[in-house]
Amino acid sequence: MNTFSSYRNLNNALRNRKGSLGLVPTMGSLHTGHLSLVEKAIKENSNVIVSIFVNPTQFDNKSDLKNYPQSLKNDLKQLQKFNNVFVYVPDIQDLYPKNTISKKYNFGRLGKIMEGESRVNHFNGVATIVEKLFKIFKPNFAYFGEKDFQQLLIIKSLLKQKSLKVKIISCPTVRENDGLAMSSRNKLLNKKERKTATVLYRTLLEAKRLMNSSKPPEIEKTISTKFSNIKDIDLLYFKILTDGSFSDLKNLKSKENVRAFIACNIGNVRLIDNMILE
Ligand code: AMP
Repeated sequence: MNTFSSYRNLNNALRNRKGSLGLVPTMGSLHTGHLSLVEKAIKENSNVIVSIFVNPTQFDNKSDLKNYPQSLKNDLKQLQKFNNVFVYVPDIQDLYPKNTISKKYNFGRLGKIMEGESRVNHFNGVATIVEKLFKIFKPNFAYFGEKDFQQLLIIKSLLKQKSLKVKIISCPTVRENDGLAMSSRNKLLNKKERKTATVLYRTLLEAKRLMNSSKPPEIEKTISTKFSNIKDIDLLYFKILTDGSFSDLKNLKSKENVRAFIACNIGNVRLIDNMILE
């Protein structure tokens, strides 16, 4: 494992590389979900970059950014076992030399609902940093988790808009034994909240069961009513949509799945999850 804080130095080190380059962008505080992306990238590429950077422009809320978990020492320790990985840990000037601001993009409906609606400017920040990383490193493949499914679609849309030649590899969500999707933010939950947090996974399973007997709008209603009776949890959204374009199910295309999406605040911690229903 080699660590670089400057992309110029990293690109120099990669100059005479042979074979394909895979990129795994992360915000650090690495867990087994992140490592599953790294392992896949290593299997499929001769060279792999893992970037660790808490991107300020994708946070709509200063205290969320301030509280975002960071554990660089432990991250590097976890990556040490992969001896052919290049780790990019930039400081802010390396990626935002002038202003720490995002570009403005138009992702249409994809960027306006769910995460786009509840976190203003979030996807502009995500797209800004991903576009920068793609242009700097020109990877052949980039690895993203289905855990952030909307982000995955936004990035695919970004590639189209900017004609970037990177192949996006989507990777399945890795879960804890009790079903909670692994997330760096899980570290912020106290013991009680951590127990409560399995409600996201349980709700998605319930929606899957209900699909046998009810229509999506009824299921959405049942679930939001249920949440309005639970204190300690703030349901931000629960939606059932096609997963190619986030349309209504009557517009389901043959290659698409029906997928449920959920976001909750548990205490001060914002958690999201999603699951294919059929
Ligand atoms: P983050 O550090 O949260 O920005 O995540 C970096 C990458 O890891 C993103 O592509 C995420 O979708 C992915 N990721 C995060 N959690 C998981 C998980 N539990 N399973 C699979 N991928 C994940």
